[in-house]
Amino acid sequence: MEREIIVAREAGFCAGVKRAVQLANDSLEKEPTKALCSLGPLIHNPSVIEALGKKGMSVLSSSLGEEEIKKLPKNAKLLVRAHGVPKEQYALLKDNALDILDGTCPHVIAIRRIIERAAEEGEPVVILGDKGHAEVTGLMSFAKEGTVVSSVEEVASLNFTKPFTVVCQSTLDSSTFEAVTKAILDKFPFAKIRNTRCQATEKRQKEALSLCETCDAMVVIGGIGSANSNRLAEICRGSGKATFFVTDPANWEPKELTPYRRIGVTAGASTPQSDIDLILAKLKSLI
Ligand code: SF4
Repeated sequence: MEREIIVAREAGFCAGVKRAVQLANDSLEKEPTKALCSLGPLIHNPSVIEALGKKGMSVLSSSLGEEEIKKLPKNAKLLVRAHGVPKEQYALLKDNALDILDGTCPHVIAIRRIIERAAEEGEPVVILGDKGHAEVTGLMSFAKEGTVVSSVEEVASLNFTKPFTVVCQSTLDSSTFEAVTKAILDKFPFAKIRNTRCQATEKRQKEALSLCETCDAMVVIGGIGSANSNRLAEICRGSGKATFFVTDPANWEPKELTPYRRIGVTAGASTPQSDIDLILAKLKSLI
């Protein structure tokens, strides 16, 4: 069978992830005597974390408490990942005079500013997204009063009598955003909705959907813990196309793609080009 492999133009590292990885590499090269420590995995991709680990970066828990922060070596450089960290953790790091390398994505900082402005005006905030996701937890810490909502059903438990601001996790898919904000506006016409999905997410999700229309199967490459890669896979599955979510490119075998002629390939915003190249080489072995 003659096969075609179509790769999404918008696949792999987004600008925020590129920036965070670049900060880590620059620090490791230019300040080798500093102990570079990332607060939680820098990005949700094991191959990138392993490569940075070989160069000397260690990964600490993302929820270090006061006592643990006090025990950190004074020559440590703390790298904040693209999701950002909660306000209280920033304060603890600064109070302990630790050297902070801030890899928070500028788009996440922009969402944070919206939340801070709402807090200054005394408005509650609703964040649409995954409860417990690092970005959502970090953002919530900047709200004066806030709630996380993950689905249309959860809107029923909201109770507001005055204006409130609604933002979303940067990687939320457009259909969840549209459905949940519609339910919120139906119940609270005074809600102030801000679409804070990032461009990188928007482009990757739109392109994945359009590939689903023309391909027989989709391959999505990304780390198992990567929210945006998981969403890409959900979107492809939701379109009804056979979807293969590849979380371990080195050990993945392309045999399961044998029945399909036209194969679309996409990758999450934290997937390095080397993982994409590896999968393409494996898929080409089928042709
Ligand atoms: S997915 Fe969007 S918000 Fe997240 S790091 Fe990339 S550009 Fe920033």
